[in-house]
Amino acid sequence: MAIRLSSPRFGRQLGRGKDIIPVERMHARQGKNMKKLSVPYPGCKREHITQGFHSGHQAIDFAFANCYGTFLTAPSSCKVEKVITDLTIDNDYYPAYQKGYGVLLTDYAEPRLQFLFWHLLQIIPVKEGDWLDKGQVIGQMGNSGYCLVNGVEVPLKCRGSKGSHLHFETRLDGNYIDPLPLIDFNCQPKLDKAKSVEQFLIRLRSMLSGRN
Ligand SMILES: [Zn+2]
Repeated sequence: MAIRLSSPRFGRQLGRGKDIIPVERMHARQGKNMKKLSVPYPGCKREHITQGFHSGHQAIDFAFANCYGTFLTAPSSCKVEKVITDLTIDNDYYPAYQKGYGVLLTDYAEPRLQFLFWHLLQIIPVKEGDWLDKGQVIGQMGNSGYCLVNGVEVPLKCRGSKGSHLHFETRLDGNYIDPLPLIDFNCQPKLDKAKSVEQFLIRLRSMLSGRN
């Protein structure tokens, strides 16, 4: 029997008996009819998924051989909502023990939709409040934060490039949803490498001169 939502608010269980949809699955279903996103980095394929969305991991992980340093790109036109570093981390987005780097984006056309890129390298070429075009570089794939190497937590400075992956979350109205149905794997950003490197250099220069 089909379930009709009587309210646009999510997080409620509607129906009775076997018709009850667990909140988590209901959230995972939201977004099925939403517009498609481009992949979170050029060359991203389904086969790169190393961990999917489930109750213990409300995100998708992507990794491939030598992925350390891969440029990550905005999956749609968005605003930079938050740049998270090991100094600015707060428990709203990631527990303090993670001590990692990430970027939270808010979709321009659908502001209820947010994307979090996590485990980034330490220089992030965008800042809070920036407006980004779809496909614009937002950082690089890395292994910062809580990241296991062969099942063991190794201090970041000892990891080298091991354990590199992208942890990509999507949230709708603050609830985690499965990013997979939203991603159009045929929509691959065309990266302007010179422009992307320049973006990093400009950011680095402003950081060094104290203009954050
Ligand atoms: Zn993950």
